[in-house]
Amino acid sequence: MKNPQDPPTIGRREFIRSGTLAGLGVGLAALAGPVSAAIPPAPQVRRYTPLGRTGMKISDISFGADRLSPGQEDLVRHAFDVGINYFDTAENYRDGESETTLGNALRGKRDKVFLTSKTLAWPDTGKDTMMQALEGSLRRFQTDYIDVYFNHAVNDVARLKNPEWYEFTEEAKKQGKIRFTGMSGHAGHLTECLDYALDSGKFDAILCAYNFGQDPHFYQRFLGSFDMVARQPDLPRVIQKATQRGVGVVVMKTLMGARLNDMRPYERDHATFAQAAFRWVLSNPNVNGLIVSMTSRESIDEYVGASGFTSVAAEDLPLLERYARINGTSYCKHACDACESACPAGVGISDVMRTRMYAVDYRDLRMARDEYAMIARNAEACLTCTAKPCANVCPHGLKIDALTAPAHRLLS
Ligand code: SF4
Ligand code: SF4
Repeated sequence: MKNPQDPPTIGRREFIRSGTLAGLGVGLAALAGPVSAAIPPAPQVRRYTPLGRTGMKISDISFGADRLSPGQEDLVRHAFDVGINYFDTAENYRDGESETTLGNALRGKRDKVFLTSKTLAWPDTGKDTMMQALEGSLRRFQTDYIDVYFNHAVNDVARLKNPEWYEFTEEAKKQGKIRFTGMSGHAGHLTECLDYALDSGKFDAILCAYNFGQDPHFYQRFLGSFDMVARQPDLPRVIQKATQRGVGVVVMKTLMGARLNDMRPYERDHATFAQAAFRWVLSNPNVNGLIVSMTSRESIDEYVGASGFTSVAAEDLPLLERYARINGTSYCKHACDACESACPAGVGISDVMRTRMYAVDYRDLRMARDEYAMIARNAEACLTCTAKPCANVCPHGLKIDALTAPAHRLLS
């Protein structure tokens, strides 16, 4: 349903249809007006959405705390002051410092916010270990409950077949330590894992990578002349399935690599690339909200500028198209696993590429190294690999063999 605060925009269906009417841009300009004039100057969350059946009403633009460190409590309070009420973190972000910082910053506000955290439950992790992890998060948060507790970065269905996860979450719910459970994922096998989680009926929310670069509609209409396709053509279906089953949907990695500086010369006023990318995912009615790393007051204000929109604006589309053209062949698609079988050493290529992105694109070496340390099969084998059978397998033109060994040297 269109939000009355929205500026003149086009709905997803109209957008898709317009591509068949008039090619790129021309027809769209006739259908939609400028967005910048309609955005109020004060940054403020303007929409709260029910998170599936949980009963939680979360800010549509929410706080990703993966890069949050002690000393940044003011940043969290600023986010709270502009209306953000959903704060997402994980036990391993900044070695637990993210949770500690959120706990300190939000002291006295616990009943006004929703807190999530995550743990890596492997196929053989025991429920006692999971409970210890949860209790560590509660201590750092200085709270006695977490709203949604996620099985973190699931990229293998075997992790969802561990019965101890379900015994643990049931027990933790009974004890009041968690209210709801979720699955998060952004690597290979994403839709397969999400389907499994949804079919199990035992998850209340999902947190998944989703951006315009993964949406087939975007490529069909805008980059049809490029030799590129969306890597997750099935993702919109799975997100819709979640909604149909009452499972909340929060999305992440919405900026397709977040190379924001590439786009600054092309932005105008309040119509930024980030806002355009957010409007794209929020125009999907099956998305309840998004999280994004918030690292400065300025970025919070910019991001919250996209709150309240439920449609894509006409002037967003050239920005998204330009970004995809600039970065399409250097961006390792989230949840793509097309190269998975190419490496005889079993290197987790997509995970290596993702952590490389944190270092090179996000310029966050600490986060990149933390995440790299969690990869089961990192790129050490690339240092001595001579045959390099991965060299030309990426359908998106990434030179895997030239990227993985340097990534290992940087991040190991
Ligand atoms: S390197 Fe290419 S094929 Fe491999 S996961 Fe990334 S985008 Fe997909
Ligand atoms: S360079 Fe060799 S070891 Fe590294 S990913 Fe490619 S095939 Fe695997």
